Amino acid sequence: MFPTSIAGSLPKPAWLAETHKLWPQWKAQGDELRQAKADATLLWIKAQEDAGLDIVTDGEQSRQHFVHGFLEQVEGIDFEHKVKMGIRDNRYDAMVPQVVAPLKLKGRVHAFEAQLARAHTTRKLKFTLPGPMTIIDTVADRYYGDKVKMAFAFAELLNQEALALQADGVDIIQFDEPAFNVYMKDAADWGVEALERAAQGLTCTTAVHICYGYGIKANVDWKASLGEEWRQYEQIFPALAASSIKQVSLECYHSHVPPHLMKLLEGKDVMVGVIDVASDTIETPEEVADTIGNALQFVPKQRLFPCTNCGLAPMDREVAMKKLQALAQGAELARRRFG
Ligand code: ZN
Repeated sequence: MFPTSIAGSLPKPAWLAETHKLWPQWKAQGDELRQAKADATLLWIKAQEDAGLDIVTDGEQSRQHFVHGFLEQVEGIDFEHKVKMGIRDNRYDAMVPQVVAPLKLKGRVHAFEAQLARAHTTRKLKFTLPGPMTIIDTVADRYYGDKVKMAFAFAELLNQEALALQADGVDIIQFDEPAFNVYMKDAADWGVEALERAAQGLTCTTAVHICYGYGIKANVDWKASLGEEWRQYEQIFPALAASSIKQVSLECYHSHVPPHLMKLLEGKDVMVGVIDVASDTIETPEEVADTIGNALQFVPKQRLFPCTNCGLAPMDREVAMKKLQALAQGAELARRRFG
């Protein structure tokens, strides 16, 4: 009961990349960088296991950014000439690469870190990929001229990689779609369908993570503007509940999401965010267990998966480590309380 996992990303050690950044520069190149990524991946698998998490991830140690890490292996994208673009409905500016030709995978994207992680843990392994709608919101289009068409083109590539990750032995493939919470109508109209195209044919567990973003200033300011009740999920959960995706991850602790919206996910496993990634304060096991208790009013216990609100990438490494422990200890306390 209450299997624990994180949303996906973890801070990169200072010897691998710049710290506390969403687009950090690597500290090495070539073979040295490849080895450093592998070392960081193993370090975080061990740390997640030691903390007591039931489902582990590679911590996204091998990708610079959760979207661009995938795009680097796609043909038809010009990374040499990045342009400034307002992303997430102009919430913040990012330097993004440009789509300039038909999209095609150059080869495998994440084989190295997925196979490495699989070889070094016997726990369930979750692997994250960006979702199609979030990808098209994080790249400039100079070729397709139609965002839906481009999203489905990316969905096909994601599907190729996802099927290969499944063959690598990954247990859960999670697509990250923070853009769903920004373009709710598009998400319901075609975003969920594009997501299902990306997950087509998968027999492993499929998941989608929808959040209010990393704990960076632009997101914290945005959340402050959303009012007393955040009802974005209300517009997208019905489409997700009707979809073939098995697990849905949402923000809960310290968010203004009305918890009863979780009822809209009937039939799905719900990854409930019980750890705040926008605060360095470490949750106590009691606070985590309380959040789980609140969610139990709306989610059956066999479907409740305690999780972090979002990724931990830009956080302090020590803080992230302690939050992993708080997550596992809080879930353990909840098992004793509600088991
Ligand atoms: Zn997130």
